[in-house]
Amino acid sequence: MSDNTLPKHARVVVVGAGIVGCSVAYHLTKLGWRDLVVVEQGPLFETGGSTSHAPGLVFQVNPSKTMAGFAKYTVDLWSGMQLDGEPCAKNVGSLEVAWTPERLADLKRKAGYGMSWGIEGHVISPSEAREFIPMLSECILGALYVPSDIQTKATRPAEAMAQEAERNGASFYGGVKVTGFGIDGGRITAVQTSHGDIRTELVIACAGIWAPKIGGYAGCPFRYRLWSTFMPSPLP
Ligand SMILES: Cc1cc2nc3c(=O)[nH]c(=O)nc-3n(C[C@H](O)[C@H](O)[C@H](O)COP(=O)(O)OP(=O)(O)OC[C@H]3O[C@@H](n4cnc5c(N)ncnc54)[C@H](O)[C@@H]3O)c2cc1C
Repeated sequence: MSDNTLPKHARVVVVGAGIVGCSVAYHLTKLGWRDLVVVEQGPLFETGGSTSHAPGLVFQVNPSKTMAGFAKYTVDLWSGMQLDGEPCAKNVGSLEVAWTPERLADLKRKAGYGMSWGIEGHVISPSEAREFIPMLSECILGALYVPSDIQTKATRPAEAMAQEAERNGASFYGGVKVTGFGIDGGRITAVQTSHGDIRTELVIACAGIWAPKIGGYAGCPFRYRLWSTFMPSPLP
């Protein structure tokens, strides 16, 4: 990716090059944003953040239509992406196994709402499940099979999205740690980093579990920082 000579100015600075930062850069540049800089404290793209440790399975069926829609969009996007000439994702399908009657009933419900969100899924018998995975126990009662679920190595789609973002005008800098913000009149005017300042008016914090610390640099009280990390909607 880019060398470590940071630009002095950017329209937008993204903090963190995990799956979220890479996705933000990918989608903003797709929408026409240019002059976008992503800074990452770790090496690109095995950064040491959560994405580097994610097992890489993408299950789409979720009781929330919105979450299922995000997952389906992700599957469709990554299934069409390549990195180093290899596909980013394998369409292996998924099995979710039931050991109890209650769990089997839940899997039937899951298949139902999955179907209504447009994701094909079938509850299959124990013997059908063992055709996929012969070592499965004789004691299982059935399984939910979702043929379109994928498996990937999480840093691969991150890097593939980053490469596409770079082709569209973004720059990525690894080994650059954000250490604070320049603030004037309650607004961020610069991102302070281990490699110098970047003047900007727009910062997108994609720092995962480090988000409370980044919020702290902007003067956000700790309890709100915790709240924004764990709750889906911001406080009024
Ligand atoms: C393929 C895939 C499958 C997944 N499956 C599941 C699942 O089944 N269940 C589930 O619960 N979750 C799953 N996840 C989610 C995953 O476990 C994490 O929640 C997700 O990777 C977090 O991404 P992130 O970009 O927010 O954080 P991170 O990957 O942690 O990225 C944040 C980045 O910010 C950088 N950073 C922090 N502070 C600074 C600073 N001061 N200066 C510069 N950089 C900084 C860090 O170094 C880090 O690289 C999956 C993710 C993927 C990609």
